[in-house]
Amino acid sequence: MVTTIGGPRVLLRQLRETMAEPLASQARLDKIVGLIADNMRADVCSFYVLRDDGALELFASKGLAAESVHMTTLRLGEGLVGLIAAEAEPLSLDDAPSHPAFAYRPETGEERYNAFLGVPVLRAGQTLGVLVVQNAERRHYGDDEIEAMLTTATILAEMIATSDFDNLIKPGSDIDLRRPRMFTGVSFTDGIALGTVVLHDPRVVVSNFIAEDTDAEKLRLETSLEKMRLSIDAMLEHGDMAGGSDHREILETYRMFANDRGWVHRLSEAIENGLSAEAAVERVQNDTRARMMRQTDPYIRDRLHDLDDLANRLLRVLTGDGHALARKALPDNAILVARNMGPAELLEYDRTKLRGIVLEEGGSTAHVAIVARSLGMVAVGQAQNIVSMCESGDDIILDGPAGIVHLRPTPDIEQAYVDKIKVTAKRRAHYAALKDKPSITKDGVQITLLHNSGLVADLPMLDDTGAAGVGLFRTELQFMIASKLPRLHEQQELYAEAMAIAGERPVVFRLLDIGGDKVLPYQRSMAEENPAMGFRSIRLGLERPGLLRTQVRALLLAADGRPLKILVPMVTETFEFTQTKMVVQKEVERLQRQGKAIPSRLELGVMVEVPSLLFELDQLLPEADFVSIGSNDLVQFLTASDRANPRVAKNYDPIGMPRLRAIRLVVDAAKRYNIPITMCGELAGKPLEALALMAVGMTRLSMGPASIGPIKELVLNVDLKPIQMSVGAALSDGADGVTIRQLLQEWIEKQNLPV
Ligand code: PEP
Ligand code: MG
Repeated sequence: MVTTIGGPRVLLRQLRETMAEPLASQARLDKIVGLIADNMRADVCSFYVLRDDGALELFASKGLAAESVHMTTLRLGEGLVGLIAAEAEPLSLDDAPSHPAFAYRPETGEERYNAFLGVPVLRAGQTLGVLVVQNAERRHYGDDEIEAMLTTATILAEMIATSDFDNLIKPGSDIDLRRPRMFTGVSFTDGIALGTVVLHDPRVVVSNFIAEDTDAEKLRLETSLEKMRLSIDAMLEHGDMAGGSDHREILETYRMFANDRGWVHRLSEAIENGLSAEAAVERVQNDTRARMMRQTDPYIRDRLHDLDDLANRLLRVLTGDGHALARKALPDNAILVARNMGPAELLEYDRTKLRGIVLEEGGSTAHVAIVARSLGMVAVGQAQNIVSMCESGDDIILDGPAGIVHLRPTPDIEQAYVDKIKVTAKRRAHYAALKDKPSITKDGVQITLLHNSGLVADLPMLDDTGAAGVGLFRTELQFMIASKLPRLHEQQELYAEAMAIAGERPVVFRLLDIGGDKVLPYQRSMAEENPAMGFRSIRLGLERPGLLRTQVRALLLAADGRPLKILVPMVTETFEFTQTKMVVQKEVERLQRQGKAIPSRLELGVMVEVPSLLFELDQLLPEADFVSIGSNDLVQFLTASDRANPRVAKNYDPIGMPRLRAIRLVVDAAKRYNIPITMCGELAGKPLEALALMAVGMTRLSMGPASIGPIKELVLNVDLKPIQMSVGAALSDGADGVTIRQLLQEWIEKQNLPV
């Protein structure tokens, strides 16, 4: 077996010296391939670069015919080199010409060479090119040689990304890592945002690639690994679950990987070959990213993502890079890019600077999306692999309604969006002009439009939209942005401020709906298998009455004699509602004993969002002063599909017959008991869906402030009666395979509605 001369460490030293020499780019590359060939005792060493047009161009070669350099190209997937680039996997063959993928290029003269070893040149999970060595004799390249080539490729990748290759590249065939990219994800909100990328979890940039002292680097790696393991253990022990309930599972996976011998071994091996500890992590991470991008199995992709995150964590320990800084100093028009995050993490950022958020995961009714909406941000989800493709500081455009993200947009795309924003501004002006018009359909049905809100800071928007009040104030959001549990007087001030801003307009305060994906960063929580169906919301409130009592007391004090509306979330059986009523009643009596003002009118409403309530409306509704449907949870539980997981949630139309029948059932019951009913789930803010709700008799709709304009316009233009008849008949008698959505679509066209 042929061995390398001096091993990879010698080669890396030589490469470093070459990089420091004052050579022109091509001369430097020629020298590099020469060095690699000599070091590997290869007859040929060639370097192919993947161009922007998808072709792999022979950029430098020692051994192949000189005329073929910059002449020979292969398509991605074509020939052995194309195969390596496409698969992002090394390929070692002792008889290359007999491989079915071998593509003969006469100008290169490579038919003489039998043994072949090619490795992908990867950076940030992207293939930049392919590095190949060949020998005339039939021989087998061993694992050590593959490893040495991969290590060399890491250095080459860095050179391509950071050096002066531009003057080598022919016009029109740029290799541009930082080219514009478009991602098609899922719409979380309306609106368009132009801004600057801020990575929620920024990648660490490695600058020191080659090890001066291998033993010292190994020691650094070991110390950093140990430090990282300890910090993961500490996070698990202290129940620091700020990122939501999935956080624990992720940390457990991290711990598993951090102790994984294979991973640690690969890291040590890369150092052994001459890389610095940081570069070794980067190398292994590059492989992981490349595998991640090819992976279609979501479970495996998630695990690879975890490994990628872990590598970044390790890099941070190694480089001492504290990423908390990024959260403090946001640029104007910041657009957060993250794999995923919980609502609490989003709320940690300076909201005055944030314009938007892009996630690789998440569903549109996940709470992080709801929070983004309530903050008036533009949000797009499921932009696959965007995190590894962008860097903080990149330009970015979010097209909310289309669910599209343009990363590093070209000037014409940017201009198109600037124009679009002008049109949107016009539309906003048009909606603003509607705000004082009574919200009544053409055939005289009054539709009350309300805000969903959760932060006192959102409430002044009531003046801009002309909404009749707040149909849902998610009190937990204020708890989530606090650094510690708000005390009684703090809560009281907050609710009083909310009421003061709303003035005469009513505000429905929903009792704390924490748990599920709404975790308070300062509160310990137990890991649960199914947190959405776990110990959350009023279940928690009734078992931990201190929290509930304090909130009720704060609300009563804040009302200070004015009317007050309280809404109870996640009620599953009537007794939970009546128990909550008793807690409220006791607090009222306490207030009276103290001689303090009690609300002039106190109304207690129930949320219908757990399906079992559908079957005891006759027991529940006589107890309630009003009712509110939470379609986000109701649909999630009716269809047994996680609202934050679009893979399942997208399969069931929320206004499909069974769901709309359930909603109609509640509307009809509320009418029978003569109590007001409001829809406060995300359905109410979407025009076609809102039409479905009005068609089943819902006349109070609560939604994100940005939806009020479009829904008002719909209300003003619709003739409701015929649609109610038609939808009613379809729900009762079936509609011969026509869906409610299709039926409404027809009506929208017939009445020329602005949807
Ligand atoms: C709902 O479930 O529809 C709802 C309004 O509550 P949340 O989205 O806060 O769970
Ligand atoms: Mg809910």
